[in-house]
Amino acid sequence: MTAATSADTHCPYCALQCAMRLDPASGAAPGRPTEVAVTPRDFPTNRGGLCQKGWTSARVLTAPDRLTVPLVRDAQGELAPSSWDEALDVVATRLREIQDRHGREAVAVFGGGGLTNEKAYTLGKFARTVLATPNIDYNGRFCMSSAAAAATRAFGVDRGLPFPLADLGGADAVLLLGSNVAETMPPAVQHLAGARAAGGLVVVDPRRSATAALADDGQGAHLQPVPGTDLVVLLALLHIVWAEGLDDAAYVAERTSGAEAVRRAVSQWWPERAETVCGVPAAQLRRVARLLAAASPSRGGRGAYVLTGRGVEQSTQGTATVTAAIALALVLGLPGRVGSGYGAITGQGNGQGGREHGQKADQLPGYRRIDDDGARRHVAAVWGVAPESLPGSGRPAVELLHALGTADGPRALLVHGSNLVVSAPNATRVTENLRSLDLLVVSDVVPSETALLADVVLPVTQWAEEEGTMTSLEGRVIRRRRALDPPGEARSELWVLAELARRLGSPVTLETDPAEVFDELARASAGGVADYAGLSHERLDADEAGGGPGLYWPVPSADHPGTPRLFLTGFPTPDGRARMIPVDHVGPSDDVRAEAPVHLVTGRVLQHYQSGAQTRRVPELAAALDGAYVELHPLLADRLGIVEGAAVRVTSRRGDAVAPARLTGRIRPDTVFMPFHWAGEGSVNRVTSDATDPVSGMPEFKVCAVDVAPAAEP
Ligand code: SF4
Repeated sequence: MTAATSADTHCPYCALQCAMRLDPASGAAPGRPTEVAVTPRDFPTNRGGLCQKGWTSARVLTAPDRLTVPLVRDAQGELAPSSWDEALDVVATRLREIQDRHGREAVAVFGGGGLTNEKAYTLGKFARTVLATPNIDYNGRFCMSSAAAAATRAFGVDRGLPFPLADLGGADAVLLLGSNVAETMPPAVQHLAGARAAGGLVVVDPRRSATAALADDGQGAHLQPVPGTDLVVLLALLHIVWAEGLDDAAYVAERTSGAEAVRRAVSQWWPERAETVCGVPAAQLRRVARLLAAASPSRGGRGAYVLTGRGVEQSTQGTATVTAAIALALVLGLPGRVGSGYGAITGQGNGQGGREHGQKADQLPGYRRIDDDGARRHVAAVWGVAPESLPGSGRPAVELLHALGTADGPRALLVHGSNLVVSAPNATRVTENLRSLDLLVVSDVVPSETALLADVVLPVTQWAEEEGTMTSLEGRVIRRRRALDPPGEARSELWVLAELARRLGSPVTLETDPAEVFDELARASAGGVADYAGLSHERLDADEAGGGPGLYWPVPSADHPGTPRLFLTGFPTPDGRARMIPVDHVGPSDDVRAEAPVHLVTGRVLQHYQSGAQTRRVPELAAALDGAYVELHPLLADRLGIVEGAAVRVTSRRGDAVAPARLTGRIRPDTVFMPFHWAGEGSVNRVTSDATDPVSGMPEFKVCAVDVAPAAEP
């Protein structure tokens, strides 16, 4: 059957999952368009808005270098077209040889936070049953792991926003730490309008980002800490709240545990001391603490939110920082109250669902721990295998990537939905490890930098060519729908994994129909934290046809209405209370004073997404910005003899990157910024740190020590 039909679906990029309609014009090939018109749809998160990436998203469907046939590296070392049978036979044969020689753990799988729920689930099942390897993790480890670990520890559950995004609109104050939504997900900014109008938007960022500029108008506040000291800002705010009696004592007594230990821990972080470490004036810290308290319901305000993003989470102190952010929300009495709360702004398109269905090293479907005997029995029964046959916890992403090709590390890697050569921290080391493998298999839609290193490249379908589900940053499960056929011989990963399973003598059946995969996923998730048991494609379609906006997990039964707001009656912890945990500042793994004189911070820009594999192929986006740059303060530039547009070399002890200078007073004079969407010499992840958070395994992308200098003339 060929398809080239209008479809209501969602944007392929970020976790806001803006709703859009696709209208393919008829094309030369059956089922393929000459072009696809994108029209925004009204939806609670985007309310008819799209950003530049969303408007141009259909261009990726017709990328000139779209992968359309399998490629196998030949005797001359070139990637050459092959049939699916040949490519899959090569992969299966070599996987079997490697596992026979080196053991089950010699094969690893790396997934992605952009995969549909169905693909993420199948990838986890494939790794644990067909390959029987514990070595599976995914790029969400680079994205959400610190927030997930801290929220799970505090609340007993991690759902990025445990409330609808639109709830933000009614709050008097929003404290936004390390998130630049005005560039990364512009339609979300409308939900900050209420706090902005009330003078309560507070942004914490070392740069005066587009989002910080919204707060820095005399009404709200922009706190511009030394990179790597966000935790100190939060410890000081906690200190002030208690010192000035701004806490919601009744809420803390009734709904939390551990407050006294936190209170003792923050007693040493009086604002003047904090100022000496984080650089934020004590008076500004006091003003923000009072502003947040005044907005909280216990003091008669309309509500307040504390929100974190990657800027504070991608740190060796990421879990501790989010733990402190949650403690601040708790001491103000916010979580579990309508119109207030704590949440994390998820980044990747299916960053939420991607971490719920079993592609994380330590988890099984339903967001269950893999070392939980009950969870293992339940999931094993759904899969039809013995619980003891399931491997245990694997290595988290950075550890896994570091182990590739080493004496006791994996010899083969299957990559789905990740472009590690550009996106991994200390990317040069990771690239060398990828090159050292006996077998690298990459499934992708375009020849990404990682695919170009592979022994076998498998062409797979993308968003508008497939059915499935995604789970947005609010835990809202939504449908992705097919508008057109995939080009050439591109096939869904569901089919690819099922074919590999068949060739490898799988003990289980892997379904290939997305609706059937979802039904199995729902059964596997039943009783888990992220319970989808009451959901099906059919129900989601019916909900949408009836004007419904999707359903929020948990949805434990077919007649359950879903759960837009969590924690209203208690927290899913053993005693029903949220846990407050003391943490302290130890600083980043790089010491900017001892190692190199300048802080490097990284981030996204309006026009591009993640490793840029998709957006760099969109002509309009590439024309708007076609390479990395180094943003630095004129004072720093002056001192170093750097002028606007000159090539700048940024060097850490891991590597260097070169890009043109952009001078701006929006950044601290001790800090430079680079976006991370490009490969080659402008690739900032050749410089970033691969030190990890001890709790979450999150790498420290967001701060490292660098030397900055004019790049020598070639
Ligand atoms: Fe919306 Fe994000 Fe897509 Fe932009 S990239 S249109 S904000 S989902």
